[in-house]
Amino acid sequence: MNYLFTPSITALPLRGSESLVPVHRIYCVGKNYADHAREMGGDPEREPPCFFSKPADAAVYGQSSIPFPSHTGDLHYEVELVVVIGKEGANVSVEQAAEMVLGYAVGIDLTRRDLQAEAKAAGRPWDVAKGFDNSAPVSVIYPVSEVGLLERGEISLSVNGELRQQGDIGNMTWGIPAIIAELSGYFMLKPGDLIFTGTPAGVGSLRDGDQVEARIAGLGSLQINLG
Ligand code: MN
Repeated sequence: MNYLFTPSITALPLRGSESLVPVHRIYCVGKNYADHAREMGGDPEREPPCFFSKPADAAVYGQSSIPFPSHTGDLHYEVELVVVIGKEGANVSVEQAAEMVLGYAVGIDLTRRDLQAEAKAAGRPWDVAKGFDNSAPVSVIYPVSEVGLLERGEISLSVNGELRQQGDIGNMTWGIPAIIAELSGYFMLKPGDLIFTGTPAGVGSLRDGDQVEARIAGLGSLQINLG
């Protein structure tokens, strides 16, 4: 039997390799920096980070422009360190977690903030707010073999050249090993899984035509143009 139509595979380049990394799933961590939890009206001391997901094909790489999404008057940027999983594993310990990491990328968790607020108020799922087409722009993958294990370093985002977000990945509420260990208790992690690890304070609105640049120290930058 053959496929009735060609299966679509979303894949990302891996620096220093001829091979592409097929994306399996996209997991995201909410409220993982205390300053952002506060700006969203939360209490970082009392609320553990939550997990949500985006479809694999929400990841976009190397697209010169991203169409401005429909149904939102409040599209937000969130710069995030993306962890790329290279091994299968369930119930992974914090000590084992580092072995699961294939590499890292710079990502932007695009969010229809108005629809997310409506969903929160109504107790509805976040899919239309978080999992829409092109909602996960991501850079090339930087392999651990090249950049080492990331524990701290500046993370920032600018819009039209103006700095909007600036933080340090060392300030995550849950560090990367803890995220991997916890997530692997809920889901069988697989090679090609992407984990968006949360955003520091300073999130805000984007307009059609905006140019966005996200940076993480030790990695490179990711640039997207809206519209
Ligand atoms: Mn986010």
